[in-house]
Amino acid sequence: MKAGRIYNFGSGPAVLPLRVLERVQKDMLNYEKSGMSIMEIGHRTKIFDRVLQAAEEGVRRELKVPDDYAVLFLQGGASLQFAMIPMNLYLSGKPVDVLHTGMWTKKAIKELGLIAEYKIAGTTEKDNFKRLPHGKEVTFNPDASYVHICSNNTIFGTQWQQFPDTGMVPLVADMSSDILSRVIEVSRFGLIFAGAQKNLGIAGLTLVVIRKDLAERASKNIPTMMQYRCHIENGSRYNTPPVFAVYVTGLVMEWISSQGGVHKLEEINQKKATLLYRTIDEGDFYSCPVQKEDRSKMNVVFRIREGDEALEAQFAEASQKAGLDGLKGHRSVGGLRASIYNAMPLEGVEALTQFMKDFQKKHG
Ligand code: PMP
Repeated sequence: MKAGRIYNFGSGPAVLPLRVLERVQKDMLNYEKSGMSIMEIGHRTKIFDRVLQAAEEGVRRELKVPDDYAVLFLQGGASLQFAMIPMNLYLSGKPVDVLHTGMWTKKAIKELGLIAEYKIAGTTEKDNFKRLPHGKEVTFNPDASYVHICSNNTIFGTQWQQFPDTGMVPLVADMSSDILSRVIEVSRFGLIFAGAQKNLGIAGLTLVVIRKDLAERASKNIPTMMQYRCHIENGSRYNTPPVFAVYVTGLVMEWISSQGGVHKLEEINQKKATLLYRTIDEGDFYSCPVQKEDRSKMNVVFRIREGDEALEAQFAEASQKAGLDGLKGHRSVGGLRASIYNAMPLEGVEALTQFMKDFQKKHG
């Protein structure tokens, strides 16, 4: 741990690899001998050509994106994708199937309701989203325009361990909080999207990976900026891209590669999550409301004494003083939450579990 830094368990914007931050610092005043910072460089210059290319190639390499998919760097957050996806992919008379698993699909459903017809193909709302729908709880329509899922629910701490089989119907996944944390097969998806501020870099950038033929579904009468085809044709440079955010994503891709790639990160993520859940499950003091099979390896939600709010508030405050930041649960569900994205080192989780044990000794 570098002096003055703490362990940041916040859900996003989130921890970045120290190496990336140091590189940004080094580049800040004079990027590649240009005499300018990256923030001052035109988006149609040769320098930015290379930055954009490095970011795109990095995503293609680390995510293993097949050639018939476009990699797009957009703006508007993952939230704009909730609207942009149905605007482009909805086929009239073919309702979208949604697996509704919490707040982030609720927000997607709100936009779907404005633009398309949709059906809930499965939900665990009656169980407060403490698990994901499986088996007979899910009914897909083979004629749906596409299926929408959230691969990792940042707030409820659930994560699809295996993605549902949607046959020929394109699967669309919101991977905002677990992209590049585990090996996935991109060809199983029609479209993947993610806000950058957790595992990809900083806020202001949204990654979209889309099978190119799907971009042709859209009417040419929707606003130009809302058409994926426009961004494919213009290589993510129809308008001014968020140059700094694209540059940081390129550096994060380099860092992933230096760590041995996504499969190596997946191993470390598994270790971190196992250690944390073991500490939670060990006694009666801490508990995790999420069903074991559906637990997230990125956002670990937990309670103290099944929801002792006063003690949880004490925990959040004391942990922050001990250099462990961002452990308060989402305001909509309360409790505690540790976000352990790719850039959170194993040592950070070890420090957290030690703190948890000490806190339990004092208050248990
Ligand atoms: N989807 C998920 C799973 C998220 O965690 C978030 C943000 N925390 C969003 C969507 C919304 O992202 P943005 O704020 O970039 O619009």
